[in-house]
Amino acid sequence: LVLLAVILVTAIQLVTQFGVLREVMDDQQRQADTQVKRAAVVFDQYMRSRTELLTGLIGALVYDFSFRSTVADGDLPTIRSLLANHAGRVKMETAAIFNLEGALLASVGGGGSLWPGAAMERLAIDSNAPDPVIAIGFIEGKPYHTVTLPINAPVPIAWVTLGMPIDGRFGASIKELTGLESTIVGFGVDRKVVYATTLDDTLREEALANVRLGGGTNSAEIPVESEWRTELKPYHDDADGVFVALQLPMSEVLRQYGSLRDRLLGFAAVALLLAMAAAVWLSRMVTSPVSRLVEAARRMAEGIYNQRIEVNTDDEFAVLAQGFNFMQEAIARREQDIVHMAHHDSLSGLPTREIVVSEISDEIADNDQLAIINFVLHRFDEIASSLGHRTADRLIQLIAGRLRDQLQDRQILGHLNHQEFVLVLPGADLLDAKEQVHELQATLRSGIAVGNANISLQVRAGVSMFPDHGINASELLRCAGIARGLASHHLGSIGIYEPGQEARSLELIRIVGDFPRALRNRELWVEFQPKIDCDSLSLSGAEALVRWEHPDLGRLSPATFIEAIEQAGGISQLTRWVLEETARTIAEWRTRKLGVPVSVNISADDLIDNYLPRFLQRLWAQHGLEPKTLTLEVTESAIMHNVESSLAVIAQIRDLGFRISIDDFGTGHSALAQLKRLPVDELKIDQSFVLNIDDQRDEAVVRMAIELAHKFGLSAVAEGVESEACLTRLQQLGCETAQGFFFSRSLKPDDFFVWASGWSRADGADILTLVKSGSGPRRARK
Ligand code: C2E
Ligand code: CA
Ligand code: CA
Repeated sequence: LVLLAVILVTAIQLVTQFGVLREVMDDQQRQADTQVKRAAVVFDQYMRSRTELLTGLIGALVYDFSFRSTVADGDLPTIRSLLANHAGRVKMETAAIFNLEGALLASVGGGGSLWPGAAMERLAIDSNAPDPVIAIGFIEGKPYHTVTLPINAPVPIAWVTLGMPIDGRFGASIKELTGLESTIVGFGVDRKVVYATTLDDTLREEALANVRLGGGTNSAEIPVESEWRTELKPYHDDADGVFVALQLPMSEVLRQYGSLRDRLLGFAAVALLLAMAAAVWLSRMVTSPVSRLVEAARRMAEGIYNQRIEVNTDDEFAVLAQGFNFMQEAIARREQDIVHMAHHDSLSGLPTREIVVSEISDEIADNDQLAIINFVLHRFDEIASSLGHRTADRLIQLIAGRLRDQLQDRQILGHLNHQEFVLVLPGADLLDAKEQVHELQATLRSGIAVGNANISLQVRAGVSMFPDHGINASELLRCAGIARGLASHHLGSIGIYEPGQEARSLELIRIVGDFPRALRNRELWVEFQPKIDCDSLSLSGAEALVRWEHPDLGRLSPATFIEAIEQAGGISQLTRWVLEETARTIAEWRTRKLGVPVSVNISADDLIDNYLPRFLQRLWAQHGLEPKTLTLEVTESAIMHNVESSLAVIAQIRDLGFRISIDDFGTGHSALAQLKRLPVDELKIDQSFVLNIDDQRDEAVVRMAIELAHKFGLSAVAEGVESEACLTRLQQLGCETAQGFFFSRSLKPDDFFVWASGWSRADGADILTLVKSGSGPRRARK
């Protein structure tokens, strides 16, 4: 701004001053010229009056009678005295009388040398009143202004000449009249004589240097650019080389010009200073607030939002600054929110993975050991879809709040994704971790009240330990996640990370991914394992068991892939498919006159599927089958996942006429307590006891299970019968049904049909022979 002001003012001043000074200069020059011209005119007038004066004086003399008669008498001494007398009276310094031939008769003041000579030819002698002859004469080299007239008595008898010196006094009066320096100068053949001058000795040379006679004429040659304005006037028309130089020094003119210029420059300087002051003031007013805003903007760009701009004016800047301040605050607030959001789950307000990782890293640095528990809310998606997502979100918040309240010193609870959490226990060992998981499970199983419902939740957890399983946070988190993924389905079980589980985990992930394609490509099929009546040894049923021949991984164990599919939430698809295959097979056997009731295994997830009863009803009706041809095998732990819902579904299914069997009986926890409430038909004793029935304790379990079944009016089934001794023992214990490799492995429907035909043709004793001879189990065994 200052620069702009300086440039602007300077430019304006330059243009103006240049113009003004230029004009002034021209004007001064013009004035100088005019002054010199005017001086020339004044000079001319002065010269005319001077000549008139001389003419008058000489007239008075020549017309004086006594003088005339004295001259006529030729009395020289008298003439001389009269001449002196007269000249003195008219203040002429010199006078002379010449005879008609020009010879001197008498003179005063050295006037004898004043004879005008050649000028006399111009004189009209015959006139009664002739004009005097005017010429320059010299006395001792000094110029004189002379006038000459004839003395008529009455014819010319002599000449009288008066001379007036052209000297310093003359120059002074010229200067007085014109105001110009005047110099009387004579030009000789090749020299210049200064007769008189008003110039100082110092200036004279410089002033007259350029004054010279041009081209042999009477005019002067004056260079235009001379420092002196000069008018060179011939003293008289015939003034033979005597000139008067009227001179005006330009330095004088320029001095005035210079002082004017100095004054203008002074004004300009003052204007410039004023403009600069104004600019500085303006910039204080405008630019300093702007630069403060710029500074603030720069700070904001660097992420500093806590310095307010203080403005105590109430102009636009104040408004702008206010806006900046608001903006800063808003950005700061938003940034805080973003940071919080980035680090905390928006729903639960718990730290996200990123923060958990960094906090675990901190704890690793401070602790020798550390446990990490990864846990998910089991089947939360289904709960969420039945609650509605808003309530489900609320539930997550309540769960987060409940668990956070229970946190102990330094424990960290993080929220990894919707239903996945992590609990970090600094300093804890494996035992502490297990205890913590049980506590967690107990808390959530006891239920969370949301709205007017009490939601009981199951937790699947995996644990990894520092430093055993990993030495950095993300490694430990990953291990805990894998352990959780591979954790057994059984209630209350905890997955503890074991090295190498990654590969297993990956395989399970692959299996789950391949499952839909496998179903389409018929890589899966269902086999049937016979169930035998212990008393009659007749075929009393079959268990449907699914098989999967994976193109790359080979034959997959159902226990493995079923669990993986259960965890991935795809089990109901498998269950329905198995049920369809089973229904089709039963129907087909029936057409071939083989009536065999079949048991199908169902999972925990199927038990909360409210549509399963309807599906079964329709499917069985579709094939024209009676409900009692189907028994559903359910494990205790599957029921325990969601007791209420499971009981409702089981009750519905049973009401439709289907049978229910408790599978793997003896391995669960709450068997006796729940058994009373369970609307079931059959107890299936877990094969682990049956296989080792020659062990006293296992035999005791089998016996108690059979007794219990009978007490509740249920039939008992033993699976895992691999020997005749086992069968015999079961017969002795009163077990109704036996299933196992002793009779047959699982068979494809056609093989089963063949096997069943062979089996039904034989009678009791033959059967055992048949079995022992190897046509039964042994054939199946290969
Ligand atoms: P499970 O329900 O206990 O099925 C019985 C398992 O014991 C079968 O194993 C069967 O082959 C085996 N088994 C039968 N007799 C003997 C014997 O004398 N000795 C021995 N050592 N084992 C015997 P499998 O076929 O490998 O099935 C394993 C588990 O997979 C089943 O246990 C069941 O829980 C599940 N599963 C199989 N098919 C299905 C299905 O279609 N749906 C569901 N949800 N689960 C199924
Ligand atoms: Ca079973
Ligand atoms: Ca079983």
